[in-house]
Amino acid sequence: MSPNSKSSAAVISEGKVVQLAYILKSDEGEVLDEADAQDPFVYLHGADQIVPGLESALEGCKVGDKKTVKVEAADGYGEEDPALVLTVKRTQFPKDVELEEGMQFESELADGSEVVFTVEAIEGDSVSVNGNHPLAGVNLNFDVEVLAIREATSDEIEHGHAHGEHGHHH
Ligand code: ZN
Repeated sequence: MSPNSKSSAAVISEGKVVQLAYILKSDEGEVLDEADAQDPFVYLHGADQIVPGLESALEGCKVGDKKTVKVEAADGYGEEDPALVLTVKRTQFPKDVELEEGMQFESELADGSEVVFTVEAIEGDSVSVNGNHPLAGVNLNFDVEVLAIREATSDEIEHGHAHGEHGHHH
């Protein structure tokens, strides 16, 4: 960083709040997520708010830049962890819980980390659950456009996320 780097303020770098429009597709072309100029996605660059592969591809971009970014699963939501695909007994859930496919619950792992599991199937007494991110193991194909870049406020830096209309609400 040179002392003059502030003069190139409109370039995406750590500590900038960035507005994006994007379409996210799988390798098969299925649209997984999108944000347009009317309802842009806003994030704080360098704060791990977006997947690492996209964050590094956006480094140095300017307003108006359009990019196609392919992010391998490992640089996206990670590879699927087979240890998080489990079959548990119905009796391990509280009796008053009505189990349904698609239902999510939080569980603490042996290492103390909290993981959100999704119920994938219920067969008799056995319940299949998956604690992987729904996009784990999926290659991500972004068509992204940079709509706006501004300096983050000190509050945003401290909180590690963008505030404002399309940012984080407390
Ligand atoms: Zn905040």
